[in-house]
Amino acid sequence: MTVTPDVDVLIVGSGPAGATYARTIGDAVPGARILMAEAGPRLPGRRGEHTHNLSRADRRAAELLTQGPDAGIERATAPADPSVDFRQVVLPGLFFVDPRPVLADGEVGLPAASMASGVGGMGVHWAGGCPRPRQSERVPFLAAGELDAALDHAEALLGVTVFGSDQGVAGALRKRMAEEFEGPGLPPVGFMPIAARWDGAELRFSGTGAILGDLEETAPGFELRAETLVRRVVVEDGVATGAELEDRRTGEVSVVRARRVVVCADGLRTPQVLFASGVRPPALGRYLNDHLQMVSFVRLDDAFVGDEAAGIEGLGYVLMPFSDARPIQGGVMSIANSPYGFGTRGRIDDRLGVVTWYGAKDLQRGDAVEFSETETDHYGMPRMSIRYSHTARDLETIEALRGLSHRSAELVGALAEEPALAAGGASLHYQGTVRMGATDDGRSVCDPDLEVWGVRNLYVGGNGVIPTATASNPTLTTVALAWRAATRIAAELGRR
Ligand SMILES: Cc1cc2nc3c(=O)[nH]c(=O)nc-3n(C[C@H](O)[C@H](O)[C@H](O)COP(=O)(O)OP(=O)(O)OC[C@H]3O[C@@H](n4cnc5c(N)ncnc54)[C@H](O)[C@@H]3O)c2cc1C
Repeated sequence: MTVTPDVDVLIVGSGPAGATYARTIGDAVPGARILMAEAGPRLPGRRGEHTHNLSRADRRAAELLTQGPDAGIERATAPADPSVDFRQVVLPGLFFVDPRPVLADGEVGLPAASMASGVGGMGVHWAGGCPRPRQSERVPFLAAGELDAALDHAEALLGVTVFGSDQGVAGALRKRMAEEFEGPGLPPVGFMPIAARWDGAELRFSGTGAILGDLEETAPGFELRAETLVRRVVVEDGVATGAELEDRRTGEVSVVRARRVVVCADGLRTPQVLFASGVRPPALGRYLNDHLQMVSFVRLDDAFVGDEAAGIEGLGYVLMPFSDARPIQGGVMSIANSPYGFGTRGRIDDRLGVVTWYGAKDLQRGDAVEFSETETDHYGMPRMSIRYSHTARDLETIEALRGLSHRSAELVGALAEEPALAAGGASLHYQGTVRMGATDDGRSVCDPDLEVWGVRNLYVGGNGVIPTATASNPTLTTVALAWRAATRIAAELGRR
C-alpha cells in the first residue's frame, strides 16, 4: 500500500516514553518529520520542565493544568468526598481513573489509579527514582548486554545521579540497613539513583524536558502539538497509516497520515487508544500490575537527625534493591536529608523519616483494564474499568511488606503510624497492559521491538510494555525499551 504521509512518525503522548522515541529518532534522522500529539495542555516553564524546578506559583499552576477533568480545581480546599474511603488522596497534578469502582466478588480494584494530562505527562511530576531492574525483573528474552546498553542510555537521557555517601544522616541510615538487610542472595544496600543533578548549588530534577533536550532546534521537523487528542489510529489492511486527531480547543477533527505511529499514552490509555482503533489482540489490557506498596512515616532516633556538617554529601535515599531471594524493594530516608527535602532544612521536622516497601504483584491474566463499547470518559474515549484481585501469593507479599516495615522502622526509630497497604493504584506504575513478548502466543501485545503483533508500523511504549513482575520503579526500563525500539525505527527511516 502507498501512503502519502504528512509526517514520518506520529507519537501519541508526550511523557518520558514518547519523548524518548522523539529524541532518539530526531537525533538519528534530523530531517524526519515527527509529530507528537498530546491531549493535555502546555504548562508554565520550558517545555517538559520538571515542576520541582519551577517557582512555587508556576508549579501550582502546572499541577492544576494537568488534572484532566479536575483541571483548575483546588482540591486541597474542596470538601472531602465521603464516598472515597481510602486514605490515599489524589496527588497534585493527577486525576483518578475511578475512585469508586464497582467490584466483582473477590476483587480489590485499583481505586487510587491516577493519570496526568499535560505536556510532559507524569514525567514533569515524578520523583525520579531510577533503580535498575534486577534478576527476574529483567526482560528474559532480551540479550543481557543489549538490555544493559539500553539502560545505560536511559540513565544518560534521564540524567540519573546516585546521591549518597557514607557521610551524614543518609550514610548512617545506609549502614544500619546494611546490617540487617544484606545477606546470602541479597544485594548490597545502596542509594537510590535519581533523575536529578546539581546545577551549582541548585538541585534540578529531570524527566521529559531533559529527554527532549533541544529537539526543536536539532530536528526542525519535530512538532509538539498540545491539546490534541488521538481518537484512533487508522489501520488499513493490517498497516498503521496515521491517526484521527481532535483539537481539544475547537473540537475539530482531522486525519494525519504517518509512516510510523507510536502510542505512548501511559499504562492505561495506550491500550485504550488501541481498543478505540479496533486493534484488540487477546492480551490487550491484561496482566495489569501495580506494585503492592507500603509507605510509613517514622520518628527517627537521635543518630539519624541533624548533622548539617555533612552538607550535600549527607543527602540520600537508602535503597534495599529487589532480588529473587526477596522480591521486594525497600527504601528509607530522612526527608530533610534526602534530595527531596533539599533546601528545607530548618523548615521541616528533621526527625521525620519514611520507610517504603514495594512488592512485586503475582501476575494474572484476569487482572485487566477493560474498555466499554458504549460509554465514554471525560475525553470521549472508551470508558475504562479495572478488574483486579490479590492472589494467595499477593497476600503473603503484603504480610512480608508489613513485617519489613515494622523491622526497618524499629532499626531507625519508631513508627508514627501502623503500616498499611496503600490503596491499589497508588504506586502509579501500571505495567503489563501492552506487554512485549518473544512470540505472538496470545500472551503479549507487541514484539521485542515494541511493534504491535499483526499491525505493521504500529508501535507502543510506556510501562505497559514491561512483561515481568517487578518491584522496582519502572520508568528507567520504559525509557530503555523505548530507546531500543526507536533506534530500529530510526534505522528504517534513515534507509529511505
Ligand atoms: C508523583 C509521581 C511520582 C513518581 N515517581 C516515580 C519514580 O520515582 N520512579 C519511576 O520510575 N516512576 C515514577 N512515577 C511514574 C512515572 O512518572 C511514569 O512511569 C512515567 O511518566 C510514564 O511515562 P509515559 O510516557 O509512559 O506516560 P505519561 O508520563 O503518563 O505520559 C502519557 C501522556 O499521554 C497523554 N495521552 C493519553 N492519551 C492520549 C491520547 N489519546 N492522545 C494524546 N495524548 C494522550 C497523556 O495526556 C499524558 O500526558 C511517578 C509519577 C508521579 C505522578
